[in-house]
Amino acid sequence: MGNPKAFLTIPRQEAGYRPVHDRIADFGEVEQTLNVSDRRLQASRCMDCGVPFCHWACPLGNRPPEFQDAVFRGRWKEAYEILSQTNDFPEFTGRICPALCEKSCVLKLSMDAPVTIREDECAVIETAFQEGYVQPRQYERNGKKVAVIGSGPTGLAAANQLNQKGYEVTVFEKQEYVGGLLRFGIPNFKLQKGIINRRIQVMETEGIVFQTNADIDLNHLPEGFDAYCICTGTPEARDLKIPGRDLKGIHFAMEMLAQQNRVLAGQTFSKEERISAKGKHVLVIGGGDTGSDCIGTSNRQGAVSVTQIEIMPKPPVGQNPATPWPQWPVVLKTSSSHEEGCERRWSLTSNQFIGENGHVTGVEVEEVEWVPNPEGGRPIMRPTGKKEILKADLVLLAMGFLKPEHPAYAENVFLAGDAATGASLVVKCIAGGRKAAADIDAYLTGK
Ligand SMILES: Cc1cc2nc3c(=O)[nH]c(=O)nc-3n(C[C@H](O)[C@H](O)[C@H](O)COP(=O)(O)OP(=O)(O)OC[C@H]3O[C@@H](n4cnc5c(N)ncnc54)[C@H](O)[C@@H]3O)c2cc1C
Ligand code: SF4
Repeated sequence: MGNPKAFLTIPRQEAGYRPVHDRIADFGEVEQTLNVSDRRLQASRCMDCGVPFCHWACPLGNRPPEFQDAVFRGRWKEAYEILSQTNDFPEFTGRICPALCEKSCVLKLSMDAPVTIREDECAVIETAFQEGYVQPRQYERNGKKVAVIGSGPTGLAAANQLNQKGYEVTVFEKQEYVGGLLRFGIPNFKLQKGIINRRIQVMETEGIVFQTNADIDLNHLPEGFDAYCICTGTPEARDLKIPGRDLKGIHFAMEMLAQQNRVLAGQTFSKEERISAKGKHVLVIGGGDTGSDCIGTSNRQGAVSVTQIEIMPKPPVGQNPATPWPQWPVVLKTSSSHEEGCERRWSLTSNQFIGENGHVTGVEVEEVEWVPNPEGGRPIMRPTGKKEILKADLVLLAMGFLKPEHPAYAENVFLAGDAATGASLVVKCIAGGRKAAADIDAYLTGK
């Protein structure tokens, strides 16, 4: 901790987003960066707490106080070394993590202005790439082979860790590119795909083999490996099986998001195949992050209007006594995509899709109220009878993903990430991949 008074004298400063009128015109990353001296000032705000709640909250066990101090002192290489001990891919989490660490930072509690841990993390890894600190290394081989099925953040972290421990690692990926939801779910305006390619290049040079277009039958795993790590994510989206579901113009969020990312990667689609919001009234059903990504994508595609509805009530703004510090605060989130223009509504259930000539034109929604459950747990939903029709000629279903079921695997098969836990976060998946790699190593070495 270089400057003990910095948290009192230097206000939190975020780099912020590009102006709406500018960013809405392209799919480039929306977040900006601070200059080096401001970044170091931000890092100096860290108080090096006796009990660093930031570290406690991070699923990876990142050590913010140590790397903030190194950044403050301008020791970028040291900061990178500290960070890369616990996190294989700070360039992903530094961009898209909701930063559980910041919500638990003591400066969040005391002045609602936590250290800018996530942005500082991103600055550390970007400097490390720029300065050439990230160099491919060669590891002594131990003669054993591991197959990783799925190349999202879980599979990439497991592969990276296993490779470093000396295993020969092959990653099998059913899609044409590696990256999982980093590649095909998360829009480019949050994470440019060159960031993934840069990391894959390092991993390939270090000896990891990636096989794309390899759809593995999980009941018949490829032969010739000593162990397997299943990191296949949550491929099935939750559907909304109400009357009118078969009308044209109703899509799962991932159909649209994945296609848009493919278009930006240079692929082409016929007019019939293309899912575009251009000139349309878009209704996004589901109030979470995937829904927010649909809003940003729809606005960039040229939607006339975008509305997002959510069945749960509007969360409190700012503070929520039900989730006090240092817990994750369940409060209203306004993403960069929300700022770009959309109407948001809560406590609405969808009764039926309305259509004309086989195409959706709207959705009948009904207001609901949530009453406490006398037996505890999730409150009970009650329809109120207040119905209306929301106009929509493109409906995007963003209501989460089903937790997958898996066959009974042999003891040398390990399950990790979203495939094991259900849909979660990139940071949790990297942690899950690292844990699976450690478990596989313990199994294969008998330790
Ligand atoms: C639209 C969207 C936005 C998100 N935004 C964020 C965000 O901003 N921040 C955040 O922290 N999290 C975000 N998430 C969540 C995060 O992306 C996921 O939790 C994470 O990617 C899951 O990682 P994973 O590796 O377990 O699975 P995935 O990323 O789903 O990867 C699984 C991979 O396995 C492959 N696969 C599946 N079956 C097979 C098979 N049989 N053979 C070969 N390969 C197979 C798939 O093709 C896929 O590439 C978002 C999710 C979505 C959908
Ligand atoms: S809780 Fe905040 S101020 Fe305290 S050590 Fe962590 S980042 Fe620094």
